[in-house]
Amino acid sequence: LASRTFHPADTVVEIGDCKIGGGNIAVIAGPCSVESEEQMVHTATLVKSYGATMLRGGAYKPRTSPYAFQGMGEDGLQLLVKAREATGLPFVTEAMGVEAFDAIEESADLIQIGARNMQNYDLLKRAGKSTKPILLKRGLSATLEEFLMSAEYILAGGNPNVILCERGIRTFDTYTRNTLDLSVIPAIKELSHLPIIVDPSHACGKWSMVEPLAKAAMAVGADGLIIEVHHNPEKALCDGAQSLKPEKFGHLMSAVQKIIAAV
Ligand code: PEP
Ligand code: MN
Repeated sequence: LASRTFHPADTVVEIGDCKIGGGNIAVIAGPCSVESEEQMVHTATLVKSYGATMLRGGAYKPRTSPYAFQGMGEDGLQLLVKAREATGLPFVTEAMGVEAFDAIEESADLIQIGARNMQNYDLLKRAGKSTKPILLKRGLSATLEEFLMSAEYILAGGNPNVILCERGIRTFDTYTRNTLDLSVIPAIKELSHLPIIVDPSHACGKWSMVEPLAKAAMAVGADGLIIEVHHNPEKALCDGAQSLKPEKFGHLMSAVQKIIAAV
């Protein structure tokens, strides 16, 4: 079902007024984690003013250490709802398992399945039964075929609205957090009709590299971007080193718009 042979035309996923795929570009921006109402509403207002079409924020966080901040859970979902009410921007947030899926499905506009869960087949099956579109991130060392097969689970379950996301894979190099594999963008375009966006923030782990990688992603034909933005990255509870200050995100948006106009 994910194959272009089966479905030649590009899939366009519609999330409120925001469309992704078939020439429609979406830019999703916001903090790694929801931390407070002030943070979410403030960030949402700013990223919208710079042209973001959707908001991001993790309420349930998959952290490497069990002692690290684990996210605000249901309270975080409520703050995302408030930020949507304040700005009109739809939001994406991650479902880490089937347990909290119902609550997330009720409030989120787009549900993320994170890299660590790309092959969580129970979660993929639940996402296949969802009424909401799914953002499926590529696993840390998933091949292209494994990535598309995970999308296939969601499609086979009856949910046609899947957006893929390249977020960097693990290689031998440790200078960056991961290695952004831009080659999957044209490859996915050949093999599948599903939209694919790029997450340069998690790919490189360094805020200074986010804008150049975002430009490259749009130049190779990505359908959009997901970018981490924090009003005070030094104080962020998660992923501050890769988070852009709102003004830097504004700079990225104007640079990216020039690339989009040129391709
Ligand atoms: C995230 O988007 O917050 C996240 C945890 O990303 P990934 O699953 O790509 O690591
Ligand atoms: Mn993050």
